[in-house]
Amino acid sequence: MDENDELGSLRGEFHLNEGEIYLDGNSLGPLCEPSSRRMRHVVSEEWALGLVRSWNAAGWMGEPTRLGDKVAPLIGAEPGEVLVADTLTFLLAKLIGGALALRPERHVIITDAANFHSDLYIVEAMARRAGRHVSVKAIEREALEQHLDDDVALVMLTHVDFRTGEMLDMKTITEKAHAAGALMLWDLAHSTGAVPVDVSGCEVDFAAGCTYKYLNAGPGSPGFVYIRREFQGVIENPLPGWLGHARPFDFERTYEPAQGMQAFVTSSPSIIALASLDGALEVFDRAPMSQIRRKSLALTDLFMALVEDRLPGVFEIVTPRAHDQRGSQVALRHEDGYGIVQALIERDVIGDFRDPDICRFGFTPLYLRFVDVYDAVERLVEVFDSGLYLDPRFRVRNPVT
Ligand SMILES: *Cc1c(COP(=O)(O)O)cnc(C)c1O
Repeated sequence: MDENDELGSLRGEFHLNEGEIYLDGNSLGPLCEPSSRRMRHVVSEEWALGLVRSWNAAGWMGEPTRLGDKVAPLIGAEPGEVLVADTLTFLLAKLIGGALALRPERHVIITDAANFHSDLYIVEAMARRAGRHVSVKAIEREALEQHLDDDVALVMLTHVDFRTGEMLDMKTITEKAHAAGALMLWDLAHSTGAVPVDVSGCEVDFAAGCTYKYLNAGPGSPGFVYIRREFQGVIENPLPGWLGHARPFDFERTYEPAQGMQAFVTSSPSIIALASLDGALEVFDRAPMSQIRRKSLALTDLFMALVEDRLPGVFEIVTPRAHDQRGSQVALRHEDGYGIVQALIERDVIGDFRDPDICRFGFTPLYLRFVDVYDAVERLVEVFDSGLYLDPRFRVRNPVT
């Protein structure tokens, strides 16, 4: 399988530790050489030598929209519909605030009870600040239709479940939200760079995601926000700042939004992190999403088959088997999940644990080989057969799991 891997040559671009199998690119992608190169250039040339001139000379001011245009094809958006800025939770706040103002006569936001906690916190907080009564209904996702009525302003869902790896049907759900007159906001944190996304084809209104997971732009790298063209100039940025002003260097006392996505900029872009993203996106120029998806499904299929074959009955495989319902990760449920993940990390297989009992393994086709999947399962078998995962030192939880 590795011999026939059409993406095999990309592995050489990534900094991977010898002997280590990295199955956590869904949490923090590894450094790639183009990122490293771009960052070095920005630091030692544009910043060190160019100093403040680089805002003009190196085009720093235009980076959030220029890089937005580079992210756009990965989510099926058009140029001018994506901006790179802030981090994901902040971008959700902006979109939720803006969307609520577009449906002033409605009082409900629907989200998923199993959504990522940050999404749940920020949606509650934005509802409280709406300036009218707005309630958040965090529902079981299967019950969406029962809750959709003419009081729903916004439906906010995460496309690929961060725990289970389940992928939702973006097109059908968006259609249902629209049929009820609601706006649709998708969180693409675990989708972007991992699965094909088509926000245009699905007629999505708003979306946001991060760039440090499958896009490999580095810890704390900025997020991205998508606003369907017809809403640009219509939806207001509830957190306006100087760099989203039509004329930031006129220093006017009152706010007037810039045209297009620029209006969703609030403050200074993080130029070094954007350089890293720029480099990380170069790798995707050489990796068509159709190939990424084909390999991702093959990797996750293989992992599930080997786990069942080598450790029958040990885990519940929580991730759906159906290809159209799966992202690029596999979640295994076990009551000693934390110890299992820690013991595996000691054996150089890096996954992570999500409360209460999920061992999570992300599969990134850009740098993983099929032999890595095989070896990871062999080491999982060793961890089990030796009972290493029951060692008392794995009872104490690290702050980051
Ligand atoms: C990773 C993730 C986030 C993280 O948000 P930040 O604000 O970038 O820290 C938010 N939502 C979901 C669904 C995620 O998976």
